[in-house]
Amino acid sequence: MPECRSVLYKFRDERVLHFRCQLGHGFSARTLFQNLAAAREDALWFAMRAVVEEAALSRYLMRDSGSRDTHLPSFLCELADRADTQIGRLRKVFASISDLIEPDDLETTIVNLPRRDAGVA
Ligand SMILES: [Zn+2]
Repeated sequence: MPECRSVLYKFRDERVLHFRCQLGHGFSARTLFQNLAAAREDALWFAMRAVVEEAALSRYLMRDSGSRDTHLPSFLCELADRADTQIGRLRKVFASISDLIEPDDLETTIVNLPRRDAGVA
């Protein structure tokens, strides 16, 4: 996906498949794969930061409210535990996405795509 989020069209120059967005930006399939891989990783880091901060905020409020409230600390402890569980799940996702094919591996395959893919999407 291009950073401008515009709709993509595909076309073929000789044997090489290219993409162009409605705003005129040009992309190779390799660049699109690189953009998608970066977007995938950014999204996971964004999610990871959010749950790490949820756990930290819950624990901070738990310590801060411990002597004033009897119900809130246990609720916050549960929130922190749930966030820890999500952190563990996200770590497994990070490990699993490293198994995905990398853009460099696809370059030869993309260049050799059959001509029936030519034209506008
Ligand atoms: Zn664009």
